[in-house]
Amino acid sequence: MRVGRFPGDGLWRALRRFEARTRPVDPETVVALRRRWSELPEALRTPAQLLGQRTTGCEGTHGVFPRCNFACSPCYLGSEANQVRTDAEHTLVEVDRQMAYLRRTRGVDQHAQLIGGEVTLLGPEAHAQALLTMQHHRRKPMSMTHGDFDYAYLERLAIAPDGTRRFDLLRFAGHFDSLMRGRSGIRRPRDEAELHPFRREFVANFERLEREHGVRFDLAHNMTVTPRSLPQVAEVVRACAPMRFGMMSFQPAAYVGNPKRWKEEFHDVSIDAVWREIERGIGARIPWEHLQMGDPRCNRSSHGVFAGGRWVPVLDDRDPRDLAVRDRFVQTFGGMDFDRPGWAVAVAVARVLLRNPPVLPVAAGWARRLGRRLGWRRLLFGRPRALTFVVHAFMDAEVVGPAWEATKRGETAADPAVRAAQERLAACSYAMAHPDEDMLVPACVQHAVLDPGENAILRQRLPMVHSK
Ligand code: SF4
Repeated sequence: MRVGRFPGDGLWRALRRFEARTRPVDPETVVALRRRWSELPEALRTPAQLLGQRTTGCEGTHGVFPRCNFACSPCYLGSEANQVRTDAEHTLVEVDRQMAYLRRTRGVDQHAQLIGGEVTLLGPEAHAQALLTMQHHRRKPMSMTHGDFDYAYLERLAIAPDGTRRFDLLRFAGHFDSLMRGRSGIRRPRDEAELHPFRREFVANFERLEREHGVRFDLAHNMTVTPRSLPQVAEVVRACAPMRFGMMSFQPAAYVGNPKRWKEEFHDVSIDAVWREIERGIGARIPWEHLQMGDPRCNRSSHGVFAGGRWVPVLDDRDPRDLAVRDRFVQTFGGMDFDRPGWAVAVAVARVLLRNPPVLPVAAGWARRLGRRLGWRRLLFGRPRALTFVVHAFMDAEVVGPAWEATKRGETAADPAVRAAQERLAACSYAMAHPDEDMLVPACVQHAVLDPGENAILRQRLPMVHSK
């Protein structure tokens, strides 16, 4: 017997969808946040901590397309990576498995990097399918690339063969630095300044896509820093800040990946030294201790507004009223996702405010102070946009291996360097999924410990096909 539908069914379903889309925090994320908070080392459970309060952390894929067509020094890929064929079918199956696991363990609406070797070797169609798969598991995907592709590639990625738009928003991180070898038009850059036209072209391609097809974008600029390039960080910041990057991320080089590509004394570059250079480039003090992702030895970041050539932090760490705003914001909004359509954010915010009306005057006070710091003229006419600075310091393989072994045995290492690595791994903010082992691992462990074995297996399954 066919069961008839009640006339109100459709309306009821629509209301439920509306309710879910405007929910401040998804229940899956609430559970995952609580778990993440409880797993953090006690000393890091501070009001400044974002892990477990605002986010469950960043995520990345592994073993999905290990090969790269550049040769950089250093390179975090093992030497075997380039002997694995890029294979769309393998990529899509693996991305699906890893993302499903991340959803189960990390909740929804988290940032996930489509990363491994070079993502554009996938071709635009498979690349698009991988991003859609990630979205299906409610991740916010970001493609990590060397940025050496043209507008036609980007257009074919964003627009389906039938002319329909596949994405409203694309997130890409372009890695540009003078340690890279193989970029079309500049195989061996001599310094960072020589790469500025390529950085500009990367952004210009997204601006054109936005103009022609209405696809918005969120771009990050990544740069590995060695002693040789450290003094050029300020120059990169100065040149890139006016481009439409929303984030500039710097990674001091670590001894991980292919040892043949270790050319300098990487330990001469500290996270502090890189931060000082960023400050020199942007011409401002950049506070960071009031907002922390995981362990401060791994990450440092500062969110700010760039307008009319000037950058100011969103929160002034020296103003107790701004620190109170931070605490109130975290208590009130928790892990709420602001990265959704404007109408959904507006309704979600309204739902929160209805329960917490005293937040309004606090927010108004903060906005007034931010406007004064930046200058109202700049705020109104200086094309303000968000610009975040990040330094992420990976660890050397030499300490990660023993630290991971000790952690797995449930021991604390006697060696202070290994113990420090254990502490950092315990507060890791960048995880990769291993569904078969029912395990998340820090990216440091993935690269330093697991990649070689994984690539050896993939090399058998996906050997390179050489044309005769
Ligand atoms: S443990 Fe490694 S991957 Fe995790 S946040 Fe620290 S440096 Fe990054």
